[in-house]
Amino acid sequence: MNNYKSHIGIIGAGIQGVCCGLFLIKKGYQVTLFDNNEPGNVSASYGNAGHFSPYASIPLNRPDVLTDVPAMLMSSTGPLALKWNYIHKMIPWFYQFIKNCSKKNMMHTAKYMHQILDLAIPAYDELFEEIDISQLVEKKGIMYIWNDQNLKSRELEIKIRDEIGAEQQLLNKKEIHDLEPNIKKIYHAGVFYKKARHARNPGKIWLKLFDLFKKKGGTFKKNNVETINFSNEKPLIKTTESEFKFDKILIACGAFSKQLTEQVNEKIPLDTERGYHINFKNCDHLISRPVVFSNRGFGMTPMEQGLRVVGTVEFGGLKNPKSNNRIKNLVNNAKFLLDGLPKHDDEWLGFRPTLPDYLPVIGPSKNYKNVFYSFGHHHLGWTLGAISGKIISGMIAEENTNLDLKPYSSLRFS
Ligand SMILES: Cc1cc2nc3c(=O)[nH]c(=O)nc-3n(C[C@H](O)[C@H](O)[C@H](O)COP(=O)(O)OP(=O)(O)OC[C@H]3O[C@@H](n4cnc5c(N)ncnc54)[C@H](O)[C@@H]3O)c2cc1C
Repeated sequence: MNNYKSHIGIIGAGIQGVCCGLFLIKKGYQVTLFDNNEPGNVSASYGNAGHFSPYASIPLNRPDVLTDVPAMLMSSTGPLALKWNYIHKMIPWFYQFIKNCSKKNMMHTAKYMHQILDLAIPAYDELFEEIDISQLVEKKGIMYIWNDQNLKSRELEIKIRDEIGAEQQLLNKKEIHDLEPNIKKIYHAGVFYKKARHARNPGKIWLKLFDLFKKKGGTFKKNNVETINFSNEKPLIKTTESEFKFDKILIACGAFSKQLTEQVNEKIPLDTERGYHINFKNCDHLISRPVVFSNRGFGMTPMEQGLRVVGTVEFGGLKNPKSNNRIKNLVNNAKFLLDGLPKHDDEWLGFRPTLPDYLPVIGPSKNYKNVFYSFGHHHLGWTLGAISGKIISGMIAEENTNLDLKPYSSLRFS
């Protein structure tokens, strides 16, 4: 006979849902995971740049960003784009974003991102002990490069990382060339994060973790979750197929989480920063590690699929189609850094789940003690999969912790 503590339903089988499921199983819970898609493809957890970035605590809400935005929007090579038909829907989000651009709020986010980022890789290592990740995770660091026009923003980041204690190594032109000799010498300086890692195929790693979840007794239902109700405080999930009752549930639907949090009567200002990738097949040998060109806000990662080029922050919601000019932009940017690239393939659009203060929501819901959340990890949801799972499983098990978890609570928006 099974001796489970209680039955947890998780909605969303992205990297967040799967990692939360695995840590809950470790603690003795029975777990059922729902997703309207097969895990391993389509969503943000499939198409990201594959960076495990424990250093990346400086948020996008920073005082200098406000003065930089107009130039970024005007630039045809820049990272920022808008879908004009959606902008009116984002006005409240932009308003809160601007409020969070003060130095004080930036430092608050940086401090609490650092708290969890610092634990992100050890948390993954606990899960990776149980799957074969050989050839799939590289420990060669991540490099950022820039030219002089971009110096001001980089100086601010470097200073804050020093204050927070995130390890970094400044690079001169020669050192950059020694590390990545194929990159054209358009740069003036850079920084190297030695402890960062990268995935050579995020979708495959995610699928391996999902298979481990099933092997350890987790159940998966390929169902769209339509409504959440309650019976004697116990959550009832209604899907396209049937109704399921749980002791507790977790909403982990990435950028799609808002439609479900509204059903539990909570208004959380989640929106999406749309991002794109393309691949250049058989070109992964051109670089040894992820390289990010800060001036243009895009990066290249050597992967099994080839050289993956990733970038763009496009404000445009979940329903607008792909923008062809953003794809062209990635192609041109890649060719700006590397010679000899062939025609690209695999044009992909994904949805970063982002809150206007650039902290995720990890914790219980405001109104229902048996509902938990893990979403809103923006540019860092891949890095933060395992640690969020560890934190959520500890919260559900009502364990004590030395971490200060209040800053991640959804209560900050009430
Ligand atoms: C271009 C790009 C590059 C990125 N690069 C990096 C990087 O290098 N490093 C990093 O750390 N992060 C990166 N990120 C961010 C990271 O990919 C995301 O933050 C992370 O994948 C979010 O994971 P998630 O599990 O919360 O959401 P998702 O992966 O989006 O998964 C949510 C799941 O919920 C399911 N779902 C939604 N609604 C329902 C419903 N009603 N019923 C059932 N299922 C539902 C969806 O089908 C989906 O599978 C990048 C993102 C993008 C877009």
